[in-house]
Amino acid sequence: MQGVGFRPFVYGLARAGELAGFVRNDARGVVIEVEGEGEQLDRFAAALIEQAPPLARIAALETSEIEPRGEREFMIEVSTGGGERTALVPADIATCDDCLRELFDPSDRRYRYPFVNCTNCGPRFTIIRAVPYDRANTTMASFELCDACRREYQDPANRRFHAEPTCCPDCGPRLSLEIDEAVSLLREGKIVAIKGLGGYHLACDAANEQAVARLRERKGREEKPLAVMTAGPELLVDLEPDEEALLRSAERPIVLARSRADAPVAASVAPGNEWLGVMLPYTPLHHLLCADFAGALVMTSGNLSDEPIAFENEEAERRLGSVADAFLSHDRLIERRCEDSVVRAAFPIRRSRGYAPAALPLPVSARKPIVATGAELKSTFCVVRGDQAFLSPHLGDLDTELAYRAFRTDLDLYLQMLAVEPELLACDLHPDYLSSKWAREQELELIEVQHHHAHAAACLAENGETGPALAIVLDGTGYGLDGTIWGGELLRFDLAGFERIAHLDPVPLPGGEAAMREPWRIAAAYLERADRPVPFADWPRVRESLKVNAPLSAGAGRLFDAASALLGVRERISYEGQAAIELEQLAGHVESEPYLCRQEDELIRGADLVAAAHDDLAAGRERAEIAAAFHEGVALAFTRACERAGEPRTVVLSGGCFQNLRLLASTRRRLEEHGFRVLVHHLLPPNDACISFGQAAIATYSLR
Ligand SMILES: [Zn+2]
Ligand SMILES: [Zn+2]
Repeated sequence: MQGVGFRPFVYGLARAGELAGFVRNDARGVVIEVEGEGEQLDRFAAALIEQAPPLARIAALETSEIEPRGEREFMIEVSTGGGERTALVPADIATCDDCLRELFDPSDRRYRYPFVNCTNCGPRFTIIRAVPYDRANTTMASFELCDACRREYQDPANRRFHAEPTCCPDCGPRLSLEIDEAVSLLREGKIVAIKGLGGYHLACDAANEQAVARLRERKGREEKPLAVMTAGPELLVDLEPDEEALLRSAERPIVLARSRADAPVAASVAPGNEWLGVMLPYTPLHHLLCADFAGALVMTSGNLSDEPIAFENEEAERRLGSVADAFLSHDRLIERRCEDSVVRAAFPIRRSRGYAPAALPLPVSARKPIVATGAELKSTFCVVRGDQAFLSPHLGDLDTELAYRAFRTDLDLYLQMLAVEPELLACDLHPDYLSSKWAREQELELIEVQHHHAHAAACLAENGETGPALAIVLDGTGYGLDGTIWGGELLRFDLAGFERIAHLDPVPLPGGEAAMREPWRIAAAYLERADRPVPFADWPRVRESLKVNAPLSAGAGRLFDAASALLGVRERISYEGQAAIELEQLAGHVESEPYLCRQEDELIRGADLVAAAHDDLAAGRERAEIAAAFHEGVALAFTRACERAGEPRTVVLSGGCFQNLRLLASTRRRLEEHGFRVLVHHLLPPNDACISFGQAAIATYSLR
């Protein structure tokens, strides 16, 4: 990996051990030649691994002996461009402690300079135009180093030796607005667009109810929770040790943690949600802002509603001009969009900034390069070289022109970085996904993968296995082999194929897309299926649409929507998943016996759960207990389906519904009580962001 301070580390180690030779980056990685006594060399080799800098990952260390050349000194040689280009681009890295000390040290020449960085920190992936990773190939190329910076850059003993984006107030980028001014505006309740690492944020005072409400109104974001940046997260959330560790990691994701009741945050930051997304400042500019503002800031993606985040200066001013009262921008260009990552302690929800383009291992090695194009929503792609899978950052919903463009330009960079031309493509079976259409247009061998097989394969392969196994895939929507919508599945599968052995009984979605936004329509469809009265006033009118527009869906997400609407939690939603999220919160940790649900042949009668909930509600039972019994009922129904299936004894859990922690924990516990071994996601999101990895695993396995 380049850009993680490895060469200066090797230099220091060799000098300390009085060894001669050289270290250099080449396009395959790092080459070190050392000359000395056997025992010294052994110690050197051991220390290379044991003392490697925090961001360095040694994937493999190969050694060979050569004839001594009588060298006397140890040198760092400047990169050679040739050879096979396989050196990897590092992810963006949060400001390190050494740079922070300089940032707040009045005697330092970079005191309060918002672009301070070094070999251990700073922008990487988001400023790279081409490989290898050298300053000339980044958006810092246009800033010529001053004499002082050049001396540091060329001095192997300096911590900025070949720190490609290094700069200072004399030679580096500049802000478009003074930090003091930005802070005053924020204090006044204004909205400021702030340029970050992979795009713009829209920021305002998180404690100012009116400011947050104005931001929501202008951005067209009604209720979806907003993330908060703060230097003092303990005031806002109760942090478990693993949450704290993630929050402070070099990747600096947004961590979902439980809100404190007394958190000094406006109610409209995360309405109806007991979780709050918090992150620490991760660029010097953020550190200065947070220190001066001395409070929590809403830091939400710089976009309107669900568009991709803005990242180019002029584009941002055009798109965000109607939302922001001011822009805190600068002249270091962002080459590629990379949104903040979002994680829970147990698994990521969005794996993007700080993680991309780092590789994940596959359980088998591909005999030729593969590109898997992913799904449509929460889209990612995946490039496979050997046994490594390189996932793209979060691309967003591919049905927007901006996201589709990012898909193609980021794919070009990945192929260049990995020095591969794809020889095999994998895509979703869906006839209309843009990612699938793109794949079909290429004149290459293509594997079309069923959506839920890809989910199952992603979870299995992420756990290092190839199957066979069972898979419970509880998801929103995926194109099925029979052309209907699947998403409440029990599969028996391996990386080569699958068999659908049980699934939710499909119900019509009255009005198609409209039913996704109005869960009450789905509740009505389920209640009719269960021979229960439908309490919604609009039903007689909407029912007419069943004749023309009511695609069948077996999606588990829709079953949760139905229960949520029935309990009056959410009849209409303003963001995807809202009904289920609020139902989960209603259930909380309330104990309840599961509702029972028949399975006849391969059909799991989800309507039984809705009927039971309806009857309990009519009988006056507590809604929280009903929500709990419903969750337990879903978990029990699929556990029983696994029991009926019998073999194999390993079950993987995937699909967006398994972001529901109660459902995940209950399903897992019940399966384990019946002696099943359970595999879950921990590196990848359970949602559709994992699809490209699953497709890649299946395509890789097909070449074995
Ligand atoms: Zn640093
Ligand atoms: Zn300088």
